[in-house]
Amino acid sequence: MTTAPVFNFSGKVAFVTGAGSGIGRATALAFAAAGASVAIVDISDRGLTETAAQIAALGGTSLSLRADVTKSAEIKAALDQTVAAFGRLDAAFNNAGIEQPGASIVDLTEEMLDRVLAVNLKSVFLCMKHQIPLMLANGGGAIVNTSSGAGVIAIRNQSGYCASKFGVTVASKVAALEYADQGIRVNALCPGIIDTPMIARYTGGTEEGRARIIEQEPVGRMGKPEEIAATVLFLCSESGAFITGHALVADGAQTAGI
Ligand code: NAP
Repeated sequence: MTTAPVFNFSGKVAFVTGAGSGIGRATALAFAAAGASVAIVDISDRGLTETAAQIAALGGTSLSLRADVTKSAEIKAALDQTVAAFGRLDAAFNNAGIEQPGASIVDLTEEMLDRVLAVNLKSVFLCMKHQIPLMLANGGGAIVNTSSGAGVIAIRNQSGYCASKFGVTVASKVAALEYADQGIRVNALCPGIIDTPMIARYTGGTEEGRARIIEQEPVGRMGKPEEIAATVLFLCSESGAFITGHALVADGAQTAGI
């Protein structure tokens, strides 16, 4: 599946965090296939190397930037390098995230809580803080922040993860309000269960584990990272020009009946 025939990002610059794996990698590839120059950002050097190779194989253009998205200075440095290399910033997909080990509120350790909030939520604030001025400098842009089905419904033993993802949704809406009249659109994206390394860790990678989680999906399958990538490109494209402050659910009806 490719999104290249539908969306045209020629001459545009996209910045994707968590681009070394899963949803972020698929989205970086989709932006590149659609003609964008793509800054790929991740904490994993190995993941970045593989994503860069896949973009090169498509004939696309990328810049690999190792950064920890919980660190303001590292995000700013990655964005500065992006603009130095490609001249501008048009689209950002703030997507890097981690899972939380299952634990009740009583058993959730302070360390687990701090970690999941820092990687999943604080990072989105820091990214937008440094991205918005760069987008304002070239007349606007579009930001998509990765929330989750866990940003739509409460999930037992996932209080930290759910809090982080509900927070991403709200932060996206507030940013959308603050910059709607200055040409910057901000949306949250709430994927259902998507077949990535994160989900493989969650299911233990076994057929039984996969079957158990697929039971939560009314469509009877997991989503593909490419299906989420296509949604990100839509939200960042001219086709999404009137959509801002929205939390778009792409989840095979996982949360529809709740
Ligand atoms: P993934 O395959 O684990 O990819 C996440 C990437 O982010 C990895 O390359 C990871 O590197 C990187 N990363 C982790 N911490 C980072 C940090 N501090 N700074 C920079 N990069 C960091 O996960 P995914 O499934 O694609 O998930 C992507 C996003 O979608 C996450 O925000 C997740 O919460 C959300 N989401 C996923 C699903 C799903 O079903 N898969 C559903 C809803 C929402 P390492 O591998 O080295 O840690």
